[in-house]
Amino acid sequence: MKRVLITGAAGFLGSHLCDYFIKLGFQVIGMDNLITGNLKNIEHLFPLEHFEFHHHDVSTFVHIAGDLDYILHFASPASPIDYLKIPIETLKVGSLGTLNLLGLAKEKNARILVASTSEVYGDPLVHPQNEEYYGNVSPIGPRGVYDEAKRFMESITMAYHTHHGLDTRIVRIFNTYGSRMRLNDGRVVPAFMGQALRGEDLTVFGDGSQTRSFTYIDDQIEGIYRLLMSNYHLPVNIGNPDETTILEFAEEIIKLTGTDQKITFKPLPKDDPLQRQPDISRAKEILGWEPKVHRSEGLKKVYEYFQSLSSEELSKNHR
Ligand code: UDP
Repeated sequence: MKRVLITGAAGFLGSHLCDYFIKLGFQVIGMDNLITGNLKNIEHLFPLEHFEFHHHDVSTFVHIAGDLDYILHFASPASPIDYLKIPIETLKVGSLGTLNLLGLAKEKNARILVASTSEVYGDPLVHPQNEEYYGNVSPIGPRGVYDEAKRFMESITMAYHTHHGLDTRIVRIFNTYGSRMRLNDGRVVPAFMGQALRGEDLTVFGDGSQTRSFTYIDDQIEGIYRLLMSNYHLPVNIGNPDETTILEFAEEIIKLTGTDQKITFKPLPKDDPLQRQPDISRAKEILGWEPKVHRSEGLKKVYEYFQSLSSEELSKNHR
């Protein structure tokens, strides 16, 4: 039985990865320091013989007894308001955390996949973004703590690959949505859906002309798995190229939820990228991957998930 370590296991992507690898028959070791993760996301796995959980901060050091075949490093705050609240932790987990896990991968002779991000492209001057683009990032801006940590993550991962011959993978994840996103994490999908459910106006930042391209969780997880199982060491974009403006997106959510909410406009946060769309030619060619779930279908499923939360959770998570 293959053993996989998943960091950020109690988070959005990490918990879905745990489910996926358990289903495939892996022995899964989940690790999380729970600063943004929630044990509720993985409590259904606790009774399983093939799952174990370590409450641990990977930025300090990481030790795992026994063999390890794969490591997936998904621990990190991942929303702009979290970077502002916990900037140092964000920098540490992308840098020191990655360093510790690369060391562990070397010790165990394990393959390691690190979760990078479309944020390495910053506010892009090239559109759509392909993997050859170097990006346009402010190192000292509010998002710099995340963007630069992830850029360092890529850099040190490539160095371990070329210098130590480590078996590495780098995925650049574009905006992904699905169940288990924190309602109060500030990202646009839970923000708009929470507002619709509470009967509040939807808050569009700026004039809403900035664009994003949203990927459904199941597509994202499959892309990550295919990359892990490939033999490709350079970064690969995984995202859905279906691009929308945030204003159109807000109107789409209002229509989907059948509510009669209004839209109010708030200032655009500093360094908020004006456009984002993945070029997925590489993923198509190398992994034979492309997204399958249309936004209307994916959003419907996520709305059902948020609807299933209790009203107590809805109000508790109100910012
Ligand atoms: N956004 C918005 N209203 C909100 C939350 C976010 O208009 O209540 C905008 C935000 O300014 C950005 C886009 O939605 O342009 C996506 O934001 P998110 O934080 O989800 O992801 P990221 O900016 O990291 O892509």
